[in-house]
Amino acid sequence: MMNNHIIIPVFIPFYGCPNKCFFCNQNLVTGKAAPALPEKGELLSYFDTFLSYSKNLQSSVEIAFFGGNFLGMENNVILKYLEIADTFCKGGSNRGIRFSTRPDTVSREKIALLSGYNIQTIELGIQSMDDKVLRKSGRGHTAKDSFNAVELIKSELKNIKLGLQIMPGLPGETRQSIFKTLKFLQFAKPDYLRIYPLVILKNTQLEKLYNKGLFKPLTLEKAVDISSLIRDFSVKNNIKIIRMGLPSEAAQNDNIVSGPWHPSFGELVISKSFYKKAVIKIIVSEKETFEKTLLIHLNPSFESAARGLKNSNFHNLKKRFGFKNIAVTKDSSIIPESFFIEIKSD
Ligand code: SF4
Repeated sequence: MMNNHIIIPVFIPFYGCPNKCFFCNQNLVTGKAAPALPEKGELLSYFDTFLSYSKNLQSSVEIAFFGGNFLGMENNVILKYLEIADTFCKGGSNRGIRFSTRPDTVSREKIALLSGYNIQTIELGIQSMDDKVLRKSGRGHTAKDSFNAVELIKSELKNIKLGLQIMPGLPGETRQSIFKTLKFLQFAKPDYLRIYPLVILKNTQLEKLYNKGLFKPLTLEKAVDISSLIRDFSVKNNIKIIRMGLPSEAAQNDNIVSGPWHPSFGELVISKSFYKKAVIKIIVSEKETFEKTLLIHLNPSFESAARGLKNSNFHNLKKRFGFKNIAVTKDSSIIPESFFIEIKSD
């Protein structure tokens, strides 16, 4: 039987947040109203119920505190929840704890609280490495805080997985800002990355700025373009991307006022990467393309992403290079996302 990984989410909306970031509405993002922090008995029975739905008893399990700033909570509250999670962890093998937190709350004092608990993953919301962008987004921390947090986690917590979240499209962002963030990713070498292009959510500070005409989010096309740049860079640097775009809960009930949300955002990004690579391969081949056939050899699982939404990639390649025809050869031995091209006279 396969060994799956189960994440049991514990939602702590805005708990530990020193301020409300201009883009954030955790209640909408997670589709949950803000509850009071749960008590021990309630949480333990929730963990058991959650687990009872799993058919795979070999699964590893992580209790995940998310939606707020875990290390920003009072020390006694942090310890209380670590103790509860620990009680659950001791009830079975292969169980651990993860949480998300702000870079500016990672300190030696807070890290000392974690000692003795099976913390497996820490996720840092860094969002951007440009101080101007962070300031204009009401983050309340600087790029240096993210740098320090990563250094501290890496030096003090050697066996812990580090995840980072970034948010392209924040106010004041330029191409330079993106490059600063990419450079930081190269330094931080996180175990995984989530890319959440900014969308304007209801009841946020950015909604007010948007309604006054003082801020505009990225178009879908631009957000896909920037995300594909970040993704390609991450793949090259062996950084795993585990999420692109907000989950569908965020888009329910007209929660999104404006912005580049799409139900298949991740696939759009992968399609865009294919297109860029295909263009380079065609140019590098130095072959005549007009009225020729482009033959693409790929893994069957990659065909839909390669074609793009409504065949848009093939359509654009034809238009750009004058191909008469584009055909696909499916070959399961090709690694997904790798592909080869041939240009034929027919
Ligand atoms: S983005 Fe994170 S730190 Fe900012 S308000 Fe939301 S939960 Fe708190």
